[in-house]
Amino acid sequence: MKHYFLGLAANYSLGERIIHTFAVGTKRDCENLAAGLEKKYRGKAILCKNGRSALALAFKAYFEPGDGVIVNGFTCYAVYEAIKAAKLVPVFADISKDDLNYSIKTLMALDTESEVSRHASSRPSSRGSSLTRSPLVAKCLETSNSCVQIRGIIIQNTLGNPVDIKAVEKFAKEHDLVIIEDLAHCAGMKYRDGREAGTVGAATALSFGKDKSIDTISGGALVLRAPSKHEIKAPEKLPKLSDHLRARFYPLFGITCRGLSYINLGGALMRLLIKIHWVEKSADNSLDLERKPSKFEAKLALKQLKSLRASKMPLREFYLVEDRLKLLKELKKAGFYLDGFWYERPVSPRRYYNKVHFPEEKCPNATFVAEHIVNLPRHYKEVKLAPARKIIKKYLIEEGK
Ligand SMILES: *Cc1c(COP(=O)(O)O)cnc(C)c1O
Repeated sequence: MKHYFLGLAANYSLGERIIHTFAVGTKRDCENLAAGLEKKYRGKAILCKNGRSALALAFKAYFEPGDGVIVNGFTCYAVYEAIKAAKLVPVFADISKDDLNYSIKTLMALDTESEVSRHASSRPSSRGSSLTRSPLVAKCLETSNSCVQIRGIIIQNTLGNPVDIKAVEKFAKEHDLVIIEDLAHCAGMKYRDGREAGTVGAATALSFGKDKSIDTISGGALVLRAPSKHEIKAPEKLPKLSDHLRARFYPLFGITCRGLSYINLGGALMRLLIKIHWVEKSADNSLDLERKPSKFEAKLALKQLKSLRASKMPLREFYLVEDRLKLLKELKKAGFYLDGFWYERPVSPRRYYNKVHFPEEKCPNATFVAEHIVNLPRHYKEVKLAPARKIIKKYLIEEGK
């Protein structure tokens, strides 16, 4: 029996695939989803085309073009795209190998760096009371001479591992940073102090994309929790028909490819579907600030929102391994197709990485982790995970070596 750990809506049961294909949503379902989000995250909800569009709207609501925003140095291109769409400057903070999040240590390193350039920045803090708060300044990587004022920080809780929320909040307060929580990996997660992810920052962005903690193939939402600086326009247009159909049929295409893989044709069919644009790779889902999700997605997302459990976290379990290529080959032989793990580059996927100008020398851990990580989605039953774990264990990087 072959196992497939990636893509193809592997987290969907057959019943869920059928429900997804034939689900009918109404305007009422959209209103209900917005109301559900507002109740849970206590703010004003806006439904969006996807997670990156929600993030971009959040940035437009709280920042000015040219502001710097701290990003986890191990992330998805979607986040970078949203930062660029709002004309902000990403400031990558290196991660810890233990939880794949920036740590207070790496945040402090940004602070030390900004000691040097602090006085070079001319723009004063707009939120006043700068007596107790020290602004953070970073070198702008793309225009190497100028400086940017850092005004915000994105909390990602990578793969559903919580950041040290107390420390991050304190850091944000000290430097007058607006916190944006990105729940793509961690909807339903609890921080160590008991608060739920999405109830801490000024805004909370959700993705309902493939393999995310709420997964309706596409869709997203933003909850504005604090009064915004700029008014933003909620998306009003319906999704494009082509996007709607792609999201609608993906789970069926997925199971068809999976079935055909028994006679070794699954890969070929998937490549064909991608080529004729009936299937879109997740990273290619385009940012669009004017479009809403499909109504049926809103209906299904609400159902999942209601059944989020902290016990389902983390979303994926990760391992750092030596000789990943060899490991992936061995896994494949045993029926585990793991090569689309999160993430193969510090800003993933590989095909967009060169656009990012990622500061590898400043983020050695993220660079190392991207070369050595594999991870397993946790929605599989233990009996299915166990053999894959056993193979992975042989390749683990031993501490202190
Ligand atoms: C996937 C992802 C998003 C948003 O993705 P969309 O495809 O735009 O819904 C945002 N942040 C992170 C960390 C992600 O992995």
